[in-house]
Amino acid sequence: MTTTDISGTVPATAGHNLNALAVPPVPFDTHHLWTNWAGNQSATPAFTVRPRTEQEVVDTVRFAIKEGLPVRAVGAGHSFTPLVQTGGILMDLSGLSGITGTDPALRRVRAKGGTPISAFGDPLWEQGLALSNQGDIDKQSISGAISTGTHGSGIELGSFSSSLRWVRLVNGHGEIVEIGEDRLHELRAAQVALGTLGIFLEVELQVVDSYHLQERITYPTWEETSATWDADIADNRHYSFLWCPGEDSAELYELPTPAGERMTGRSYTKRYNSVKLNEATDISLEEGSRRDRSYRIYPGGFMIPFHEMEYYVPVEHGKEAVERVQDLIRTTHPDQKYPMEVRWVKQDEGYLSPFAKRDTTVISVSGAPGTNYWPYLRDVDAVLQDFDARAHWGKIHFMTRARLEKLYPELDSFLQVRREFDPNGVFLNDHTRALLG
Ligand SMILES: Cc1cc2nc3c(=O)[nH]c(=O)nc-3n(C[C@H](O)[C@H](O)[C@H](O)COP(=O)(O)OP(=O)(O)OC[C@H]3O[C@@H](n4cnc5c(N)ncnc54)[C@H](O)[C@@H]3O)c2cc1C
Repeated sequence: MTTTDISGTVPATAGHNLNALAVPPVPFDTHHLWTNWAGNQSATPAFTVRPRTEQEVVDTVRFAIKEGLPVRAVGAGHSFTPLVQTGGILMDLSGLSGITGTDPALRRVRAKGGTPISAFGDPLWEQGLALSNQGDIDKQSISGAISTGTHGSGIELGSFSSSLRWVRLVNGHGEIVEIGEDRLHELRAAQVALGTLGIFLEVELQVVDSYHLQERITYPTWEETSATWDADIADNRHYSFLWCPGEDSAELYELPTPAGERMTGRSYTKRYNSVKLNEATDISLEEGSRRDRSYRIYPGGFMIPFHEMEYYVPVEHGKEAVERVQDLIRTTHPDQKYPMEVRWVKQDEGYLSPFAKRDTTVISVSGAPGTNYWPYLRDVDAVLQDFDARAHWGKIHFMTRARLEKLYPELDSFLQVRREFDPNGVFLNDHTRALLG
């Protein structure tokens, strides 16, 4: 069984025969230390490039092919897994940013590959459009979010990947390729590809008519959460909760809680539903009952780093799986205090999508940076394997190639596309090669 090291630092130019005279044809840094948001992944690539144009991306990929250097793309660096590490060329796409077009009739938007999610809100709203859903933050790049299956919560709402309708990318042959709905096989591979098909230059997403949201925050006991489980999932556009195993749990995620309330065993529960608002009179910024445009309601804070693992179980097993993890914390890991976040995602068709063909309950747990949380995360992994859990590609997980073969019925379809797009593995690193090589 092939395993993948998820906690390492990649040394500069590891395993590559660098010709000292060959340098990228675009401005670059050499041996610049890169670290992800959470601080648990780092690398020192031979070259870090920040292309500003499509041509600079193409030129860099062609240079890499010629010199035998691997390339990895980085968006906002918000993944907890070693997805972007490389000893070759790290391509920071943050300079390739901005909305490039909207089609209000078809409800579509196009944006450059490095555009942050936060940059979609205002321009879409001006066209009467909005992203159909968003996650806990809006700092990620759109390509990073798509590439890992990033999602919000709502049983009728799919992930960012599921909204991808077209992508323009540079593949491992150094060619620009456009994949739309007329190339469904390749589109389903591109919908979650971990950067292994090439560099996304521009993407087109399905969006929806603009909408306002009404927030309702409550603090139920577990018995109350359990009693209204099915109705809450079905009746709310967005339903999610953060269950607190201890009194100090809420502050670890900076969750506002009612004064004097004991949070042990309670949840910080979010319900967001569409509401018609007159913006002149109806906007409310009151914590716990905000009313505002959708894109102003979704994103939260998360300033204090944590190390997160997130697994996905079929929706019909959601409650049992959550209760098994609660029991594990109480009986075996009472020192683990981070809230458990529980969300829902609608099924989709992406070959590597963790939501492929199954409506999903999302369970995430976190460890404190600087502590040995590995026994806890491994035990959660073991418990959730009983439910055929898949994992968030961008959060800590213990997936192996053997496990992927069991969990992803379309894995071979994905691998076929990956090998066509990048037969020489230009866009692989050790982590992705072990899983998808
Ligand atoms: C505080 C915090 C909150 C989070 N909240 C959520 C949440 O609510 N829901 C959720 O599902 N996840 C969440 N995540 C996880 C996060 O959304 C994913 O890890 C996401 O991939 C990060 O986007 P990024 O732009 O930082 O991508 P990176 O981490 O930089 O890259 C992720 C992958 O995308 C690839 N990539 C990036 N740009 C390109 C490109 N232009 N072309 C091709 N490949 C590319 C990279 O090579 C890599 O494989 C959260 C993470 C943090 C740290």
